[in-house]
Amino acid sequence: MKEIVIVSGKGGTGKTTVLARYAEIANNAVVADCDVDAPNLHMLLNPRIAHREAFVGSKMGVVDPDKCTNCGKCESLCRFDAISTIEVDGRKRADIDIDRCEGCGVCARVCPEDAIDLRDRIVGEWFISDTNYGTMIHALLEPGAENSGKLVAMVKHKAKKTAKDNGAELVLVDGPPGIGCPVIAALAGANIVVIVSEPTVSGLSDFRRVADLAGGFKIKCALLVNKADLNDEMTASLLEEATKREMPCIGRVSYDEGLMAAMAKGADAAAEYQDCPAIIEISKTYDALLGLL
Ligand code: SF4
Ligand code: SF4
Repeated sequence: MKEIVIVSGKGGTGKTTVLARYAEIANNAVVADCDVDAPNLHMLLNPRIAHREAFVGSKMGVVDPDKCTNCGKCESLCRFDAISTIEVDGRKRADIDIDRCEGCGVCARVCPEDAIDLRDRIVGEWFISDTNYGTMIHALLEPGAENSGKLVAMVKHKAKKTAKDNGAELVLVDGPPGIGCPVIAALAGANIVVIVSEPTVSGLSDFRRVADLAGGFKIKCALLVNKADLNDEMTASLLEEATKREMPCIGRVSYDEGLMAAMAKGADAAAEYQDCPAIIEISKTYDALLGLL
């Protein structure tokens, strides 16, 4: 089984469009949408949810008001200032702010009354879905919730397991933007990483950052320049930077207004964009990518 991860360093470069096209061509790859903070692959692949589960991000402390004697031990030892004293019906007791609680468990350990319980904190959901091109594993984290790296790792794990169970030979991963913990989780175990970049000054900077990150893990990378014809000079800079890193370029895709208009209509307009020049160019990059695998 091979694993291709597509990243971009930032959102809006066309990474998800590229992945959706690859999923169509591969037709039986397992697709993992690892952009768990702001997923959008579902708009192109129209998944039909077959299974959904809550995602437990971490633990959180919960005070039993009947047991708490307001001794103050927990409040003085919480390093995250998550505990305060409140008064309810004339009785003072400890109260935990769940937005500050990191679930470290210190308060539960020190409470002499055994008044604090550590409970699971559900911060999102993950899904196994059917698409017209194969199984898709995806997830959604609650706004502002932490643990996105953990959820990304879980989505990837489920995708690989599904591929193994289904006999699929390819896992296609839509990576999150940026270079933080979720991206590192998405890169882990990849056979090759495709970096989709736009020919802009910030695009070049993002390309360098994500190439440095993947290079640090010694993962093979390839460059795909999207909207390459919008700025020949910056496209040349991207290609030069890739050459310096001995990174192959699997193709340059042109800006295509027809594709943009069709994509805006979502999965229902799939037939409309099949003949768009940019889609044909993206298809050629897939052939080049398989050559590198
Ligand atoms: S679990 Fe840790 S962070 Fe949360 S309230 Fe208790 S001591 Fe503070
Ligand atoms: S340590 Fe226990 S009894 Fe003391 S204030 Fe905290 S919850 Fe209440």
